[in-house]
Amino acid sequence: MIPFVSFEAMNTQIRGQIMQKFESFYDKRWYVLGEEVRAFEQEYAQWNKTQHCVGVANGLDALYLSLRVLGIGVGDEVIVQSNTYIATALAISYVGATPVFVEPRIDTYNLDYQLIAAKITPRTKAIMPVHLYGQICEMEQIKQIADKHNLYIIEDNAQAHGSTHKGRLAGSWGHLNGTSFYPSKNLGALGDAGAVTTDSAELAQKISVLRNYGSEKRYYNEVKGVNSRLDELQAAFLRIKLPYLAEWQAERLQIAAWYFEGLKDIKEIILPKTAQDVTHVFHLFVIRTPKRDELQAFLQKNEIGTVIHYPIPPHLQEAYRDLGFAKGAFPIAEELADTSLSLPLYIGMNRLQVEEVCQTIGKFFR
Ligand SMILES: *Cc1c(COP(=O)(O)O)cnc(C)c1O
Repeated sequence: MIPFVSFEAMNTQIRGQIMQKFESFYDKRWYVLGEEVRAFEQEYAQWNKTQHCVGVANGLDALYLSLRVLGIGVGDEVIVQSNTYIATALAISYVGATPVFVEPRIDTYNLDYQLIAAKITPRTKAIMPVHLYGQICEMEQIKQIADKHNLYIIEDNAQAHGSTHKGRLAGSWGHLNGTSFYPSKNLGALGDAGAVTTDSAELAQKISVLRNYGSEKRYYNEVKGVNSRLDELQAAFLRIKLPYLAEWQAERLQIAAWYFEGLKDIKEIILPKTAQDVTHVFHLFVIRTPKRDELQAFLQKNEIGTVIHYPIPPHLQEAYRDLGFAKGAFPIAEELADTSLSLPLYIGMNRLQVEEVCQTIGKFFR
């Protein structure tokens, strides 16, 4: 049996450190916004090569708070790719702005920068590139367009910690960048957690006020903030995991390389493509086939877990019926939703397991 994801190897590797940390946390009795959050914010900013990092409760809040401090709201439009995870669209809706969908490239599954300009109107305020499946979007080109039209960039970097375009890290291109440390992300906490990264001291300060009830000085509220603090214990755990990220990333790349090798002769499937000048961190290994549902059922019968990321694009979700889109509105996003399948990929997955997945896929098509 090969699960879609497993935390077993990772958790075993760091068990001693985690338990020790929990004991000292328990004895210290400081539960909210303490040393661990401050230290993690510094360490993560340094790791991501940005001037600042502000820890928040989760990835969705990181995106929502970023839009809010930039003053984006009712009547504004925000460009986002049509095949994103629902969180990016929801963040835009939360501030009262309208998501304007732009199709992805069919080969990289990421925002097609060549289609952005046509969607810019006088109401457009920002572009939110979503670095799906571990691959950063083509940020240099996107930044050129944003600069030319005077738009903000807010990266959704929930899935691509460590991915680079032209040597520059995901999460370091935008004015503000949201990331998630949901347990299954490449850097995952043991619960919900997220962060905003930025080079702007002013914006970082505003986010840190907004996440804590809009209060800089206790019980004095300058703005109507929210409670979206990064949990002290999760920050402590993330500080333990961050130094392992490079090693775990290398392991993900190795597993992806085994997949490319094992699947290269199966003509019926389309393998993920990495854009030029991009390094991929393989948060997910997503293949495509028109026989996706049958393949998934066959793998399930052979005790191999897979997941569909994502079966319904945001514009066809019930929650977004108000936007008035019908099937066919974004054919590339729809094609990806109908044909994509994410294969098992997790720390501790060995070569034999990858080969078994590949051979089982081969068997299905024979
Ligand atoms: C996980 C994820 C989010 C949201 O993160 P949470 O921490 O679950 O709120 C946002 N965008 C993308 C692309 C994600 O994968």
